Amino acid sequence: MIDSLVHTPKSEAECALRLYDESWCAAYAVRLRWPQGFVCPVCAASHQGYVQSEKPLCRACGRSSSITAGTLLHGSKKSIATWLRALWWLSGEHTSVSIAKLKHHLGFRSYQTGWAWMKKLRFILHQVNRTQCRGIVLVDAVAADDCDKGDQLLTSVESIARGRSTGRLRIKVSAVLNQEFIAQFCRQAVTPGSIIIVPGRTPFDGFHMQEIVCTVDDSIFHHEDVLRISACYRLWRRQKKFRCTAQHNDQDLVDEFCYFYNRSLYTDRVHLFETLVSVALNHSHDDFRSLIEQSAAPGGVQ
Ligand SMILES: [Zn+2]
Repeated sequence: MIDSLVHTPKSEAECALRLYDESWCAAYAVRLRWPQGFVCPVCAASHQGYVQSEKPLCRACGRSSSITAGTLLHGSKKSIATWLRALWWLSGEHTSVSIAKLKHHLGFRSYQTGWAWMKKLRFILHQVNRTQCRGIVLVDAVAADDCDKGDQLLTSVESIARGRSTGRLRIKVSAVLNQEFIAQFCRQAVTPGSIIIVPGRTPFDGFHMQEIVCTVDDSIFHHEDVLRISACYRLWRRQKKFRCTAQHNDQDLVDEFCYFYNRSLYTDRVHLFETLVSVALNHSHDDFRSLIEQSAAPGGVQ
């Protein structure tokens, strides 16, 4: 274990200060990427206890590597400290993110750089959102917006304390809602062994799954939380001035909304920051590359 190399900051103030120390940032990133010691990104050979933040050398294939090699941050011209400051900024946002705010925080002049970084940060948000709902989970669908597109928001949300609060939220946008789609969503969004509460109407009537207990309840008592969440989403979307056009990916918007809804579950900002850094350093650049290629990028990753 190399935990002794660098510790998690004990306060927000300490964390914000450390992020201007390049060597601390490098050691912190190494601890989160290789907690048991360096693992070669080329040949996957593990080196128990071997820690080297500057160009670690693989004893198996002889190649030198870097903290960001093969990760989401692969090939970036900016330092790891700059990336950590971007993730620290992200961990402190409570309602929305934007390229303008990111540029202001990091002092970037280029819109292209801000655009490329925001794509990666949104990808990280999406990965953090993948945590499943568990326990007693409300599942329902409501209209996505006031337009005539007909999309539905298929929603699952943990029911923590009736009348007080809800827990983790997952939402999927769907143009066609049937039981096959609902089952696929529940497998992704709800932990096996949980209990889901669905309404008795079409297309939920008669819905069942092997790995999840399904209970039918039509009372408004159980579904007002979903109605309230969808109203919050529509308001949030209006505030972001997104219009109902094909230019915006509705699922991206919904994912961002879910991230900020779930963000309040993290009472400790430093813990959320560490989660974001772990995602950035433990996801492959290849997973992300197709996303970049699909978009008409005004410029490359800086
Ligand atoms: Zn190797």
